[in-house]
Amino acid sequence: MKWFISHETIRSPFLKTLEKDCGEKISHCYQCGKCSAGCPISYQMDYLPNQIIRMVQLGMEEQVLSSKTIWLCASCLTCTSRCPRQINVAEIMDYLRRRAYTKHMTPPGEIEVPLFNKIFLRNIELHGRLFELGLIGMFNLLSGKFFKDVALAPRMFLKRKIGLFPHKINNSKEVKEIFKKSGKLGRARRDKLWQPKLLFLNLSRKLIERIERLK
Ligand code: SF4
Ligand code: SF4
Repeated sequence: MKWFISHETIRSPFLKTLEKDCGEKISHCYQCGKCSAGCPISYQMDYLPNQIIRMVQLGMEEQVLSSKTIWLCASCLTCTSRCPRQINVAEIMDYLRRRAYTKHMTPPGEIEVPLFNKIFLRNIELHGRLFELGLIGMFNLLSGKFFKDVALAPRMFLKRKIGLFPHKINNSKEVKEIFKKSGKLGRARRDKLWQPKLLFLNLSRKLIERIERLK
């Protein structure tokens, strides 16, 4: 794909803001590609991690924040440990996810990604570790895909991959405390999950997508 990059884009404050907020010298990246060569998820990404870094250098905020890559990154830190310029690529990916979230930007056709992210975090906050059935149920309900993967449930129950009740963990209060201390951002995530407006938005987008597919 070819892009025309305008002077305004290159001179936008995107790179500087990121460097300041993340504390990472992104401009030091010399595109060796070692981060992408070690990334275990790169085969699923629309842009490789080194390409994301380059796009940040060029001020391409819109393309970066609407990429799948930032949401697929598993925060495994392989890229960070391989970078010869000591750039914490995983931290940058995390920052980009948060920025995309606050700006309501999603990859085209992937409107449920932030919804899944929010439900996942809320699930961990409530139970201290993932309660799979709660995650699946809530995601299906709020995304409007009520019967998604339902056929797989009996097999997963039999193989004990999912349980009817959340697992108990020690010190679950400490996990809640972490979320509490993470402050405004955590609270914003939680509040938005339950907003009827968000639910309505998701369902109407789904409906529009289906109508467009029928055309
Ligand atoms: S490993 Fe570091 S220097 Fe090399 S492309 Fe990735 S971020 Fe840039
Ligand atoms: S932290 Fe993300 S980008 Fe880096 S190697 Fe792991 S999955 Fe890839």
